[in-house]
Amino acid sequence: KTIIDAHNVSKTYKETMVPVKALQDVHLHIEEGEFVALVGPSGSGKSTLLNMIGGLDEPTSGTVFVDGVEITKLSENKMIDFRLQNIGFVFQSFNLIPVLTSRENIGFVLQLQKVPKKDREKRVLELLREVGLEEKVNSRPGELSGGQQQRVAVARALASKPKIILADEPTANLDSKSAGNLMDIMAKLNQEEKITFLFSTHDQRVIEKARRVITLVDGKVDSDVVQTPT
Ligand code: ADP
Ligand code: ADP
Repeated sequence: KTIIDAHNVSKTYKETMVPVKALQDVHLHIEEGEFVALVGPSGSGKSTLLNMIGGLDEPTSGTVFVDGVEITKLSENKMIDFRLQNIGFVFQSFNLIPVLTSRENIGFVLQLQKVPKKDREKRVLELLREVGLEEKVNSRPGELSGGQQQRVAVARALASKPKIILADEPTANLDSKSAGNLMDIMAKLNQEEKITFLFSTHDQRVIEKARRVITLVDGKVDSDVVQTPT
């Protein structure tokens, strides 16, 4: 079953002095349950492509389907709802709210999802257990290591029971041990819960974990290779 289908996606940033063609006629077809690395030099369009697929920004032309829904046609409000129910995001900078504990950072998303208050606590603990951080439920981001913060961010991304997790250089700010740990958790979620992962990365050890590697160069798909993960 196709989960991500992008046709002729182009994105030109026009706010700049000289317009930047960040993506040019990108086609992308990803099946449910794939574990895909998006690689390419800095500025090749990886973040832009993830933003298009996650509906955080709109392509200049082309269409994007996510789980059969043409998201490029959705209004902003419908897109917010769709994202909340279908897509989890993980960013390189963790993006946790510093003043909130792990419980609150995750609970906040459950609240947006209208999960009843009485069910939230149980769900928060389940989510933290998935990433091995139950004991950090009352910790604020500043009290956690980078690896732990990113695992809370993954738990938060899981709160919506997403079919897809999009991760923009999730290991960029982690040491190699924490990066390995995070990749193991992502691979486990991929295998056990059939969540589709699309993650951009520069890290060779992260690329090796992928089953498919898509390389962007100058906003175009340069290669798309299936490999055996290590
Ligand atoms: P990558 O993630 O591979 O580093 P990006 O998608 O961030 O690549 O960027 C692709 C190109 O688009 C780069 O030339 C970058 O400078 C440009 N770009 C990205 N975001 C914006 C923006 N908001 N406004 C203008 N140009 C941008
Ligand atoms: P991970 O592999 O998930 O990143 P680490 O190996 O970095 O975890 O962290 C190991 C231990 O060190 C943890 O118990 C964590 O609480 C502690 N620790 C690491 N960095 C920090 C920090 N900046 N502040 C508080 N505790 C930290």
